[in-house]
Amino acid sequence: MTAYPVVHHPDYVAPLPAGHRFPMSKYEAVVAALSADDTAGLFVWHDAPALDRDTVARAHEAAYVDQVFRLAVPADMERRIGFPVTQRVLTRARHASGGTLAAARLALALGVASNTAGGSHHAHPGFGAGFCVFNDVGIAARTLLDDGAVARVLVVDLDVHQGDGTAAMFAAEPRVFTFSMHCEANFPVRKAVSDLDIGLPPGTGDQAYLDRLAEALPTLLSRHRPDLVFYNAGVDVHAADRLGRLALSDAGIAARDRLVAETVLAAEVPLCTVMGGGYSDDVGAVAARHAATIRAIADCWRTRQAGE
Ligand SMILES: [Zn+2]
Repeated sequence: MTAYPVVHHPDYVAPLPAGHRFPMSKYEAVVAALSADDTAGLFVWHDAPALDRDTVARAHEAAYVDQVFRLAVPADMERRIGFPVTQRVLTRARHASGGTLAAARLALALGVASNTAGGSHHAHPGFGAGFCVFNDVGIAARTLLDDGAVARVLVVDLDVHQGDGTAAMFAAEPRVFTFSMHCEANFPVRKAVSDLDIGLPPGTGDQAYLDRLAEALPTLLSRHRPDLVFYNAGVDVHAADRLGRLALSDAGIAARDRLVAETVLAAEVPLCTVMGGGYSDDVGAVAARHAATIRAIADCWRTRQAGE
């Protein structure tokens, strides 16, 4: 049995002002949840490198990258991000985006990999927003295209919020297909235009959600023929999520993750998953949802391997 590759770094957790609503501690809680009972060695852990300025600037405007690296982000831009850009927040953003690039490279080599952070899909080329500083999927996709490691990329963004930053980043890039399925009533109020947007009404439950996904995904793979899929597996689609307004159950999210993994792996396309959003005052509950997602994808991958 091959261990499933997961990328992590202790600096995924950065201190925020007291009482801040972003659930920063979930990033270590997910690792604890995955490794606690892993006596069988189901997961193999890789360290996320910190990206340098030039790599970040492949996808972001140089002026913005410079502001972040100099810790000189203007106050109005920090408000849009949702927290102050300190040295620790910068370090976190460099490792989180390095983790997605590392996971993507592992996926290209092994077939799958997950980052225990990332999915910062509200970060636009020239500014951050909605708790997102650097767009990790955007940077990784751009880097792998530039390096010739891939020719076409598909982004499957199933976080409850629209992947507006990623859509904006690749609006004029035909090699990257951006697909976002989200709740129409959630942030951002003004949506960007992805290559395919499915905006669902609040309260959409498991069956309607899964039907729409099952209808869309196979066609995207066969039409776009990607060399790599990035899957933003945000769990803020859960009924108990503090921000998300869809109404998926635990079983619904598990079915969603299996549907994505089985469809992508059956098409023999490498799959890189990033964590995305998940919000609750109960950090243990939200970390358990993220851990369940990684487990579901790892299970699909192992089942396929066993069958080969
Ligand atoms: Zn979200």
